Formats: sequence, C-alpha cells, structure tokens
Amino acid sequence: MEALVFDLKTKVLKHEKKHPMPEIVKDDDVIVKVAYSGVCGTDLHIMAGEFPARSDRPFTLGHEFSGVVHAAGPASAFRAGQKVVVDPNRPCNLCNHCRRSKYQFCSARANIGVWVDGGWAQYCVVSSLHVFLLPDSVSLAQGGLCEPYSCVSHGFDIISPITVGQKILICGAGIIGNLWITTLHHQGHRNITVSEMNTKRLEIVKNLQTGYRLVTPDVLEKEKNDVLYDVIIDCTGVGKVMEISFNYLNYGGKYVVFGCCPPTHQANINVFKIYEKELTIHGVKVNPFSFPNAIGWLSAMGDRYLNFDKLGVKVYALSDYQLAFNDLKAGVISKAMLKID
Ligand SMILES: [Zn+2]
Ligand SMILES: [Zn+2]
Repeated sequence: MEALVFDLKTKVLKHEKKHPMPEIVKDDDVIVKVAYSGVCGTDLHIMAGEFPARSDRPFTLGHEFSGVVHAAGPASAFRAGQKVVVDPNRPCNLCNHCRRSKYQFCSARANIGVWVDGGWAQYCVVSSLHVFLLPDSVSLAQGGLCEPYSCVSHGFDIISPITVGQKILICGAGIIGNLWITTLHHQGHRNITVSEMNTKRLEIVKNLQTGYRLVTPDVLEKEKNDVLYDVIIDCTGVGKVMEISFNYLNYGGKYVVFGCCPPTHQANINVFKIYEKELTIHGVKVNPFSFPNAIGWLSAMGDRYLNFDKLGVKVYALSDYQLAFNDLKAGVISKAMLKID
C-alpha cells in the first residue's frame, strides 16, 4: 500500500508505494481504508523534531482521518463497509488522570499517528475503541474535519456558558480560527471580531459569509480604550500575541488559550487586572471524550459550514504532500487534506 513514512532519526518523510499492509492482531482491531487525512500543525512540528514522537522506527504520520472499515476482528462491533472516523487518543487508562476521566493529561498517551502508525496511508489498523461511526448525513470529506472539531468541542464545553450577544474576539484565522468561527456562527453568535495579520487568511474568512468583523491586529490596538471583549479565544499559539490581546478583555471576561504554543513562550500579564476585572483564563488541551459531540456538530452544520473551499481547506493526493506543506507554510490555504484512493 501507499504510505507517507516518517523517520524521526533522519527527519525524512518518504512516500512509499509498497509499504506493508497493516494486519489485525487483536480480536477487536479494525483496519480502516483511509479516505481523507488532515495535515495538522502538530505534524509539521513532529517533522521538524519540535514535538515528541516515535523514534525507535519509522512510522506513518496522520491523526485526523476518516475512512471506511476494510476488515474487523471477530470481537469488533464494526463491519466492513461502514463509514467511520478515528479518535487518535491512546491514553494508558491506568494513571490517576485517566482514572479521573482527564486523559488529556496522561503522560503515557501513545497517540495514533504520533506513537503508532496513523492515517497518512491507504490503510491503518486501530482498536475498535478508537473507531466512531459516521451518520449518513456526514460525508467522508466532512469526517476529515472531525478530529479538529472535537478539539473545538472540548473548548466550547470548557468555556460554556457563553451567551448569544456577548462580544467575542477570535485571534488567528488559520483553520482552528475558522472552525471556531463556524461553530460560533452555527450556535447563533453574531457579535464577533476576527483578528488576523495575514490578509490572505482574512480573505478566506470572507467566504464563510458570517458577517463577522474582520480586522488586522493594529485595529484592535488602536481601539483598545473603547472596545473590550467578553470572551477572547486565542488561536495563534503565540505568547506575545496573547500578552497583547489579554488587555482587551472586558470586566468578567474569559480568556481562552486554545492555540498550542511552544513550551518556551511567555506572556506578561497584569495580575491586578485579573483581580479588578474578575477575569478567567481557560486552557484547552486536545479532545477528551469529545468525538460524539463533534460528530453531532458535523451532522448539524452540514454544507452551510463544512465546505472545503469556504474553509480554505485544499485537497491533495498523498503523493503531492510536499506541495501541500508548501501551500500551508505560504498561508495560501488554511488546511491541507490528503485524499487517499
Ligand atoms: Zn491535529
Ligand atoms: Zn494515563
């Protein structure tokens, strides 16, 4: 089968045309024939050696994918032909975090596409525990967005309730910003400003036709004495950006650290303001138990929101991965999706 295989020792990603087919090892294993497999910022960090991943042998990347069940072990409830998505989280289930249902903190997580072979391949074997059925109303292409939407869903739960009419600022309009934009619009929020310094990305956001106010960061800075926000969602993952935007919080405001920033980033914030304004800071880490919600969202949002062109998602063949990375780095797309035949 075809697969994109990464070797952390040499930092080389190879397109292999005759990679061995995965096999069912445990009775509940499922082999998924991959259909759509997203390229995530984490993948780029792994390939740059900036994010911990398997190093003892080359492995297949890809942790955001949809597909069809190709084969299932005798103890699996799944059947060949079913349309599915795969939750990449593989927690240990034994540590105190896992046993308190907070497996996003598990230090022994061995995620699919990071520590075991993932979905940048024609086929991938996973335990049934990671497989979720897609309803008929959700296409395989839309299913390719399930994993990132499941992260947004976890964040949405953490910051809830946010009430319609509150003033919200989204910082950063890459794919994660766009998923937040579609989520909030779908849930009825209209009083939203999106800040992004890359004007190409702001052009992409216009396609979503939300009527949200789209600005570059200098606009926020100019109006900071007059315009404050009840909720600020950082999707930039840049410490310095957070330091600045934190000052735009309204009294009683919530700041959401959603973008994953490098561990070295710092931000200086005025702690008196936290007291004076009764501010809350929410961290949001990945997607514990949020696949069912995300699948519900995909079904409810449908073509109005989950349109690849409008979201700035571009589809590439597996063999065109280099072009996909280049377009992503150049900022001409918000997300690259590998379509695997
Ligand atoms: Zn990801
Ligand atoms: Zn654990």
